[in-house]
Amino acid sequence: MRLAVLGSTGSIGCNTLDVAARHPQRIEVSALSAHSRTDQLIAQCLQWKPRWAVVSDEAKALDVKRQLQAQGCPTEVLAGPQALCEVASHPEIDAVMAAVVGAAGLPSCLAAARSGKRLLLANKEALVVGGAVFMQAVREGGATLIPIDSEHSAIFQCLPEDRRTWAQRVDHIILTASGGPFRQRDPASLEAVTPDEACAHPTWVMGRKISVDSATMMNKALEVIEARWLFDLEPERIRAVIHPQSIVHSMVVCRDQSVLAQLGTPDMRVPIAYGLAWPERMESGASALEWASLKALSFEQADERRFPGLFLSWEALRSPLGSTAVLNAANEVAVERFLAGRIGFMDIYRLNARALADIEPRLGANAGLDDLIDLDQGVRARVGQWADERAL
Ligand code: NAD
Ligand code: MG
Repeated sequence: MRLAVLGSTGSIGCNTLDVAARHPQRIEVSALSAHSRTDQLIAQCLQWKPRWAVVSDEAKALDVKRQLQAQGCPTEVLAGPQALCEVASHPEIDAVMAAVVGAAGLPSCLAAARSGKRLLLANKEALVVGGAVFMQAVREGGATLIPIDSEHSAIFQCLPEDRRTWAQRVDHIILTASGGPFRQRDPASLEAVTPDEACAHPTWVMGRKISVDSATMMNKALEVIEARWLFDLEPERIRAVIHPQSIVHSMVVCRDQSVLAQLGTPDMRVPIAYGLAWPERMESGASALEWASLKALSFEQADERRFPGLFLSWEALRSPLGSTAVLNAANEVAVERFLAGRIGFMDIYRLNARALADIEPRLGANAGLDDLIDLDQGVRARVGQWADERAL
């Protein structure tokens, strides 16, 4: 399988390369990409000798090209977002790991979907923004969409291969959430949380954006929306519950109330290996669950005062088409400002809630990628302005 790893310098990207390295007979890494960490990309190119490397910025791409040439590496270096789409849809690529963070990943995900690839989707924001447009591209392009997000991989692993039977089998699904670092914090103390505290996740090691999303539980909100599209379920049939140990990765409650769950150590290499090997299984590098040392598997309801962001997902899904894209764009801007120390932790929720209440998406029934990108850009500008004016 010739694999393109988009976002190869990130947490999911590195985990994907770790799994690929265990299966050299099976996986050929043909393309890598990075946004800013070009030193890391160069090291990856020297190790993997992919056919292509994509760098967002033209000037940085030139520099990478020079350095690779100097070291005799044959990789062709491409620049810019369009190059990501070209690689994602290239006939010599069989599978695409979509591990860019944020809505920036949408065009390349769509390109892979339209050209019928095996699309391993880590980039949940693309699906939250793209929604029906994205799923239509998957259907029309004949792509095989495999979720990499651990919760959605868990649900996917619990369901039979034949999609057409899902609606009849499933009563509802339950996405588990660790509750992040502030599960037990006094809600009043959350205003003063720092970026480093928010990024200190108790069970998963991840990129900074998704770590903040886990601390606000906006990550689960995005995942509820992601599940709505992946599994074609009405919002009422998607639930979320806190499970602090991160061992049960999610559950399917069947029509007869039988519950199927997928369990394992919290290690993203498991859903990545599953996505790469599906419908088979292969070694992932994850360690085995130590059953004897598991003290408890506990579950609790998310507290609305501590995690108000979670509940915005169902609201966005009930709102006019495009509202989930509004919520996502607002959240990306808010998290960026929070990580830069420019707004407080709870301001993330305030900006998201205000965007959902005040911005009407006005998308037509035939909206396409360009309309979604326009909407995304418009929301970013407005929410950025609210943050700057402290109009929260
Ligand atoms: P990360 O920040 O560690 O890495 C992001 C990658 O995207 C990097 O390679 C970076 O160079 C690239 N990138 C960033 N901005 C870009 C842009 N504008 N254009 C092109 N490339 C860009 O993020 P991550 O934690 O690996 O997460 C990646 C995606 O996977 C996210 O959508 C996240 O929600 C999802 N995800 C991550 C985890 C996890 O455990 N890390 C789990 C589930 C889902
Ligand atoms: Mg997840």
